[in-house]
Amino acid sequence: MVVDEETALVSTESAVFLQKLVDKNLISESEKQFFSKPRKMLLVNFPARLDDGSIKLFSGYRVQYNTARGPAKGGIRFHQDVSFGEVKLLAFLMSLKCAVANIPLGGGKGGVEIDPRKYSAGELERISRAYINAIKEIIGERKDIPAPDVNTNGQVMAWMLDEYEKFVGEKQPGVITGKPIAVGGSHGRSYSTALGGVIVLEKLLERLKMQPKGQRVIIQGFGNAGSHAARLLAERGMKIIGASDSSTTLFNESGLDVAELLASKGAGALFAKNARKLSPADFLEQECDILIPAALSDAITGANEGRIKAKIVLELANAPVSPGADEKLFEKGVFVIPDILANAGGVVVSYLEGVQNASNYYWTEKVVNEKLDEIMTQAFTDVFDESRRKNISFRNAAYVLAINRILTAEKLRGNY
Ligand code: NAD
Repeated sequence: MVVDEETALVSTESAVFLQKLVDKNLISESEKQFFSKPRKMLLVNFPARLDDGSIKLFSGYRVQYNTARGPAKGGIRFHQDVSFGEVKLLAFLMSLKCAVANIPLGGGKGGVEIDPRKYSAGELERISRAYINAIKEIIGERKDIPAPDVNTNGQVMAWMLDEYEKFVGEKQPGVITGKPIAVGGSHGRSYSTALGGVIVLEKLLERLKMQPKGQRVIIQGFGNAGSHAARLLAERGMKIIGASDSSTTLFNESGLDVAELLASKGAGALFAKNARKLSPADFLEQECDILIPAALSDAITGANEGRIKAKIVLELANAPVSPGADEKLFEKGVFVIPDILANAGGVVVSYLEGVQNASNYYWTEKVVNEKLDEIMTQAFTDVFDESRRKNISFRNAAYVLAINRILTAEKLRGNY
């Protein structure tokens, strides 16, 4: 992910995508400019006490990119490389993602510049509480609703919720989502990103008149998104022929044993019998029907796009296909289901978590998954129809759809 800190544009990649939409007359120059700046950005430097008694100052961010359609929504990332630029880009993508899913939320994102592996659980709790204290005035269930992201989880959300409720002096579980079920979380949230991706993939297969059974799938990244996707796709009769994580790649044309993969991941090291190890580059370039990048950004770029043999690419990771590669894959007839649609299932169930918190009435896993299915199916239909109507890629269709939905709200508010 290339982030341009100096300019008003969120990142060179988003700027490239937006410029391509202008070049194709899909949005105007003034619409591009309108989306080039976040509405609110907060930088905080806050102290927290370490286990040895010393006090350290940490830097954190919260960006509210656009809130025309509802409160800002987006995760909080703990990472040593977090920067204002990266948080802006991710907040921008969240605005588009919520608009594509057509849920009444805007886009936001937060981050703390910290390598969480270097801190004890007690230190992480104090840092989490101190960060929420530092941003508490701008968040709220009707203002801006954080959630977990890279290196944060349900426990971190529970600490943050507790700290925020001390500040407001009442229970407000809807201020944060991705909470453990015991403090107001939703059933189905843990695998909702993968399930949302699987739902849109099934809809595309239906349109292409391809049977799910027997489709050969390669998954890069076997964390939350990738491992749940493997399980759900195997349950639907698809064949997982490749799986990788940061330390290994496993490949077998006849299919890997998914139960074995999941068990080995739980035990610490990804493993499957009868699997070949390939170089990370070769791994992505194997013959398959569906390629799922579920790890990092820029997995497919101009450097390897020409050797990608998949028919469908499902972007469970954020920004795994670079703008130039995306265009080339479209010209080659590869269907790329873009991140803002493919991985929107997580934020959709976060939204459903907020609805349950607001009504203080909680649904079963089955009901949550039915609602997720309904929302993702509609989002897929909207993007598919837009792409057919204008003969444009799914990514361009998703961007245009999202930008138009946000602009409609801005116009009605008299802001654009
Ligand atoms: P995670 O930390 O649970 O898993 C990441 C996985 O990627 C791990 O298996 C890790 O070993 C692997 N990985 C890292 N570097 C790799 C490399 N070079 N090659 C192959 N594998 C590598 O993260 P996650 O929650 O599964 O998120 C994965 C991606 O999906 C991220 O881009 C994230 O932004 C995106 N995403 C996740 C969610 C969600 O709800 N989890 C929602 C939207 C988007």
